[in-house]
Amino acid sequence: MIKVIGVIGAGTMGNGIAQVFAQSGFTVKLHDAAAPAIDRALKTIDKSLAKFVEKGKMTAENRDAALGRPSAAPSLDAFADVDYVVEAVVENLDIKRTIFGALDTITRPDVILTSNTSSISITTIGAATTRPSNVLGMHFMNPVPLMTLVELIRGQATSPEAMQTASDLCRTLGKTPVEAADYPGFIANRILMPMINEAIFAVMEGVGTPEAIDSVMKLGMNHPMGPLTLADFIGLDVCLAIMEVLHTGLGDPKYRPCPLLRRMVAAGQLGKKSGRGFYVYA
Ligand code: NAD
Repeated sequence: MIKVIGVIGAGTMGNGIAQVFAQSGFTVKLHDAAAPAIDRALKTIDKSLAKFVEKGKMTAENRDAALGRPSAAPSLDAFADVDYVVEAVVENLDIKRTIFGALDTITRPDVILTSNTSSISITTIGAATTRPSNVLGMHFMNPVPLMTLVELIRGQATSPEAMQTASDLCRTLGKTPVEAADYPGFIANRILMPMINEAIFAVMEGVGTPEAIDSVMKLGMNHPMGPLTLADFIGLDVCLAIMEVLHTGLGDPKYRPCPLLRRMVAAGQLGKKSGRGFYVYA
């Protein structure tokens, strides 16, 4: 029976993941290498739940109960009694492998260890443990409390039982799981990123302005957000890193990152977070 969830990494994704588990009645232990990140995450959860109450989507009583469920875990040793783990630290293979190696020794052998990675191979992460059959990808979408999809990534050694447990857990959270095999970019980024990259080629070649390209995709294809607005929101450095993973991992020149994307990242024009990308943010 899964009751206590360990979440590692309390950044953009980690705080959202901790929140959705807490909202669904799970006790959550939240660990981050930077202690201030945990305080920030708990405040973000507080604000997010307050918005749900304001909009009438949650009662104040349920909010108070949810707020009592996440707590700070100063070290990973506190994960000795967790029943399930979601890792959401920075997108770096070495860091993730080190963490999974540590989790393998700290947690019970039956505990399923999952990663929220956007693009790193689950098989490679699982190989850092002695329980690769209990390692899988649990790829939540940003912002986690609002987006219903969770991509579940089956590594080469992941067991069907572990996939089933993760799938059931997603449904308990009110999310819809979709299974993907462990190939670069899984499903979401395999399809989304080449579209964004192509939109950037279209800007570079003067096919259209960013406004024109976004309008075509919004009004003509019914996308809620144009690809360049979305790229600014995701971060152009993140988009470039994922294109590199697709290009290297799949070896097809169709995945080559657009030179304009490289140039903007080199210039520090990373999108919304840096104040400038395809659009300027105040
Ligand atoms: P973030 O930079 O907001 O947060 C990462 C957190 O990890 C930071 O608080 C950092 O202090 C912590 N951290 C770094 N090294 C650590 C360590 N050794 N031990 C413990 N904590 C450590 O990053 P994010 O955007 O939340 O992304 C986290 C993961 O989720 C990445 O794998 C990313 O690819 C994936 N992801 C991100 C998004 C997104 O839109 N941001 C969407 C889906 C998946």
